[in-house]
Amino acid sequence: MKTIGLLGGMSWESTRGYYRLINEGIRERLGGLHSAEILMASVDFAPLSKAMEAADWTKIEAILSDRVRRLSGAGAEILLICTNTMHKLAERMAAAAAPAKFLHIGTCAADEAVAQGFRTVALLGTRFTMEENFYRKHLEAAGLDVHIPGPSARQWINELIFTDLCAGVFREDARKTMTDIVLALADEGAEAVVLGCTELPLILTAKESPLPILDTMALHASSAVDAALDS
Ligand code: GLU
Repeated sequence: MKTIGLLGGMSWESTRGYYRLINEGIRERLGGLHSAEILMASVDFAPLSKAMEAADWTKIEAILSDRVRRLSGAGAEILLICTNTMHKLAERMAAAAAPAKFLHIGTCAADEAVAQGFRTVALLGTRFTMEENFYRKHLEAAGLDVHIPGPSARQWINELIFTDLCAGVFREDARKTMTDIVLALADEGAEAVVLGCTELPLILTAKESPLPILDTMALHASSAVDAALDS
């Protein structure tokens, strides 16, 4: 079994989900008391989120590539950054991870959407993930038509992620608003919703969502299990 390196803490509310899902995946596949070989670096998210607000991606890159190099140097053979948004720096992170294999979360989402036969998907996440090209280009490269909510809904979701979800606050009224946003995207023709933020599955599950969900955290974790067991 290969060693998985997780760069987490962005936020730790979702990183603990990765830890659980990867261990469950290994147990399902190998049985008994088998569990994953994991190395984790978990960062302090406060200075990073401030740097995001200030668009100081040079500072963010310096912090994250340092942690990625440490994980790779400590023996991680597979590298995951446990956040969609920080994939804005994916190319740099993949280079810092080498020779560890970097698993891109957007590619996991695109592959699953195609495997399930979807053609039009809604993309929800931070304003960076929804509005910039670094993430949606992976969905579009797979032939998917990508819809995002309007400006006020985007702002609301972005604030929800940073103010509530990353701080471990899950409100019922916020769940209802998320459901309404997804309904509006379904009316526009979306067949599924990419939960392109690792905290979003904590507030919108398959049971509540009006559209099928593509849970990027679960898909990313599952691809790590496959890679770890791929001899
Ligand atoms: N975890 C989130 C994501 O998947 C947001 C936090 C961050 O900006 O890294 O995008």
